[in-house]
Amino acid sequence: MAYVISPPAIPAVAIAGSDDLFPVNRVYCVGRNYAAHAREMGHDPDREPPFFFAKAPENLVAASDLDGGGDFPYPVQSQDVHHEIELVVALSEGGANIAEDKALDHVWGYGVGIDMTRRDLQGEAKKMGRPWDVGKAFDHSAPIGRLHAASDTGHLDQGRVWLEINGDVRQDGDLNQLIWNIPETIAYLSGLFTLRSGDLIYTGTPAGVGPVAKGDVLVGGVDGLSGVKITVS
Ligand code: MN
Repeated sequence: MAYVISPPAIPAVAIAGSDDLFPVNRVYCVGRNYAAHAREMGHDPDREPPFFFAKAPENLVAASDLDGGGDFPYPVQSQDVHHEIELVVALSEGGANIAEDKALDHVWGYGVGIDMTRRDLQGEAKKMGRPWDVGKAFDHSAPIGRLHAASDTGHLDQGRVWLEINGDVRQDGDLNQLIWNIPETIAYLSGLFTLRSGDLIYTGTPAGVGPVAKGDVLVGGVDGLSGVKITVS
């Protein structure tokens, strides 16, 4: 038996300090996981549990190191594309109904990503009660930096999360502001989906999201991890 077309390549993310790659299965994203960002989007963080959406693994863009830089082509069909800087968790092991106190055993490591968003299309979808895919899961919508093994960094529950555009700080938060921390997020998500090795979780963005324009250079990071750098083309 043979495939009737060539199988697509497995999307993968570079590892810091190594030529190895992390193969990606699914890309989950947490919505409104920082109170100040929930408020800036017009919601009450005290009354709404976080929720999830997904991007396609093919949406990942290698953002490379701060001295390198990836390319983010301004997407079609939008005039309002926003940046959302996020800690990304990479899973080495899956499972369903993972207990909170075992959740970190499933983490391979951490990286920094940007949840690029066609905010105008997402806004229309919200208004019409439609899915968010066109606002969130478009080509190149998931820039990501190099991943670090948790065995090197330890598990992360605090540290600055920030993003600059052309040298101006736009987002500046701390992982200790996450409404749902990493173990809670993994435990909850694994109650909705059977998680698998290779899954990535974009954990939500701090306040300060806003539009990008062609020519902008976006640089972002999380304390202790390789950052991301992309140029909007
Ligand atoms: Mn996000």
